Amino acid sequence: MKRLVYLIIVCLLPAGARAQLSTKSAWMTTTAQQKKAAFQFAEDYKEFMAVAKTELLTVKEVKRLAEKAGFRKLEENSNWRPGAKFYDVNRDRAICVIVVGQNKLTGGARIIGSHIDSPRIEVKARPLYERWELALFQTVYHGGIKKYQWGNVPLALTGRLDKTDGSTQWINVGNQPGEPVFIIPDLAPHVDRQFRNRTARDVLKGEELDPLVGSISEDSTSVKQEILQYLKKTYQMTEADFISAELALVPATRPADVGFDRGLVGAYGQDDRLCSYAATRASLAVEKPPFTTITYLVDNEETGSNNNTGARSDYLRSLIHRVLNLEMGGNATEFHVRMVLPKILVLSADVTTGIHPQFPSAQEAGNSAKLGQGIAIKRYGRGNDPNSEFTARFRGILEKHNIPYQTHTYKVDVGGGGTIGGFMSRENMEVLDCGVPLLSMHSPYSVSSKIDIWSFYRAAKGFYEQ
Ligand code: MN
Ligand code: MN
Repeated sequence: MKRLVYLIIVCLLPAGARAQLSTKSAWMTTTAQQKKAAFQFAEDYKEFMAVAKTELLTVKEVKRLAEKAGFRKLEENSNWRPGAKFYDVNRDRAICVIVVGQNKLTGGARIIGSHIDSPRIEVKARPLYERWELALFQTVYHGGIKKYQWGNVPLALTGRLDKTDGSTQWINVGNQPGEPVFIIPDLAPHVDRQFRNRTARDVLKGEELDPLVGSISEDSTSVKQEILQYLKKTYQMTEADFISAELALVPATRPADVGFDRGLVGAYGQDDRLCSYAATRASLAVEKPPFTTITYLVDNEETGSNNNTGARSDYLRSLIHRVLNLEMGGNATEFHVRMVLPKILVLSADVTTGIHPQFPSAQEAGNSAKLGQGIAIKRYGRGNDPNSEFTARFRGILEKHNIPYQTHTYKVDVGGGGTIGGFMSRENMEVLDCGVPLLSMHSPYSVSSKIDIWSFYRAAKGFYEQ
């Protein structure tokens, strides 16, 4: 009844006044048809998340989706014309999905940037050791994790190793039903008395995050030797090959709906393959956008945007120079690039921390994002805010398309977090940070709302089509 009254009131409002700042669940203003679309989008999203568990796997999957939708690899002689669709892969770990606009690049472009790495555990260069006839891997974690959360979770091993002969061996074990998984064992409550005073951060310490990788020794060989023989036979690798490997341990779990009403999505790695997927889908959906659109997916955000595949890299600027050169018949100079950069509008997309029903005091409720209230504009203050005129412009897009939105600001002197926007604003682009709220962010299984995921997709599409 309450919902009905609310819907009637909403329907009586003029169209432009409907999608305003959310203070109530967006489901209340969602039509049955919209709910169906949001649920369908979530099905596609879960399928993607089941596969795209690392930056390497995400680049492969985004490339596959783009090629299926008619996108072609960007070449130095590509036919740059309005509506043309390209992708560009940076070293298998970052990717741009590009749709050429009707206006020239000299008038600007629209970029949505987000990251495709997530907190996880990585295998060290000399990982394999044996203790009490159990074989384990030495690991180092990637991103800010609450380490205790990674114990007792089935983990898959995925990544690549590059051999001295120039060949690459891909490894992906544990993500398919029936495959073995890896587990970081915890101490039973029966025997943990001497460790109970450890604080939450140290329940499992960094050097204790070592998964079990083997347990059988036959004949007189050690378990370690048995595992090395298995690796040799299965992957034609030697112990030294770990030195040039990038192997990650990620939750072997599959995405699932959460709750009786299936309104939420649980999955590993929603930070930030949620925005990455939604922005990619927006790229695939736009036809002849007014300005060229670039979905820019990068690695290593969780560790400071390092390396040439992270957002600190010069890669994006080089890409802009390359495409400008295509448009200008090979005559783009550094001066031309500098003239284009300030006209580029950027959404720096990333998830954020939704207010927790049990721990609301961790955030300042009035300015915190809530699950189910739509896309969040991040207003972190302290020089990190978008210029207000750009925020107004973005609000205009959201309101035009009736997209529910909210804002997010961390509690002063308590919360914090940043993302890749700073690297693009440094290049003199116009940047706004936005995303959707998650619960259990950075854990092995985070939770998002289907209406927020879909709202972000619609916002991305609206931004690209503006
Ligand atoms: Mn993030
Ligand atoms: Mn993060």
